[in-house]
Amino acid sequence: MMRVPVNEPLITDAAKAYVTQALETGWISSAGPFIEQFEEAYAKFIGVKHAIFVTSGTSALHTSLRALDIGPGDEVIVPDFTMIASPFSVMYTGATPVFVDIDPETLNIDAALIESKITSRTKAIMPVHIYGLPCDMDPIMEIAERHNLAVVEDAAEVHGATYKGKKCGSIGTINAFSFYGNKIITTGEGGMVTTDDDALAARARWLKDLAHSPQKRFKHDELGYNYRPTNMQAAIGLGQLESIDMLLKRKRSMAALYNERLSDIQGLTLPVTKDYCENVYWMYAVMVKNGRDDLCKTLKERGVDTREFFLPCHSQPAINMQMNEAFPVTEEVSGRGFYLPSGLAITDEQIIYVCETLTDVMHNG
Ligand SMILES: *Cc1c(COP(=O)(O)O)cnc(C)c1O
Repeated sequence: MMRVPVNEPLITDAAKAYVTQALETGWISSAGPFIEQFEEAYAKFIGVKHAIFVTSGTSALHTSLRALDIGPGDEVIVPDFTMIASPFSVMYTGATPVFVDIDPETLNIDAALIESKITSRTKAIMPVHIYGLPCDMDPIMEIAERHNLAVVEDAAEVHGATYKGKKCGSIGTINAFSFYGNKIITTGEGGMVTTDDDALAARARWLKDLAHSPQKRFKHDELGYNYRPTNMQAAIGLGQLESIDMLLKRKRSMAALYNERLSDIQGLTLPVTKDYCENVYWMYAVMVKNGRDDLCKTLKERGVDTREFFLPCHSQPAINMQMNEAFPVTEEVSGRGFYLPSGLAITDEQIIYVCETLTDVMHNG
């Protein structure tokens, strides 16, 4: 029996060489030349003026929201179907996440439902590009403009994905990426804030380093954070980024192989793409009508590791908000979906094994 982990990262040779260099030169803390190099290369890659390297995607979201001065009493619109870091980052600021249901096909926030959730306290919209597929950003940007709201893209799952030719993470006011181990570019743990706004960039940079007063070090006028990652992480990120075209090409060919081998299975919904964007297929996410949990258990017994979809945010015990509201699409999708092994180290043979196993289990039980 073949064993296929749900995510096995691919560490490039350049990443290994640079991290060794960081270690051998003794630049192991958050000072060191790779940080600036990685930030500059990442800003160029995304097509923004500023990129600020931080410790995680979660801290990138938190820093972005704090840079916008979002805090207690404010509201931020967040999709109900997302990784918990999206609403948690809002809650860290003291603001309230206000959840919106998603589109059943794209699994991204349903822009048509946003306006009914806007109040006098709303300060920002946080669209989350789910599993590699960019949100339809034009309607979201238009609503934000009309109501004078900031937009914080949660681009943790879409390094290199484009919307109408623009990279995700370059469209919103100030945006966040994650470089966690299972993301398309990884630094082990890490994140990036991206923006074209000079003042927001300066504020983000200041907040991530404990908000030392620019006039007087060790004087602090606002609450800051230590969100400084190390030179070693930047070295890994820079090395990964040099291979980004190859990594994205591989992601697409993995999805093409899955599509080809799975399109005939009755009752299995495959991921979609849209004319307005380029999907990077961070995770190959599928849905079944029923029996998801048993299916995933059987797959696991046969060596195929999968992950179930996120739970609806509003129903998380740690959040427990808007319980009297209905989020029917998120609730349904959340119980039907899972993703197949999608790490960049996967081989075609492994993908074929996954497809054959899934076909067999779905057809023959
Ligand atoms: C991974 C992820 C995050 C959080 O990133 P960390 O680096 O793990 O903190 C946030 N939002 C989404 C949508 C993610 O997938």
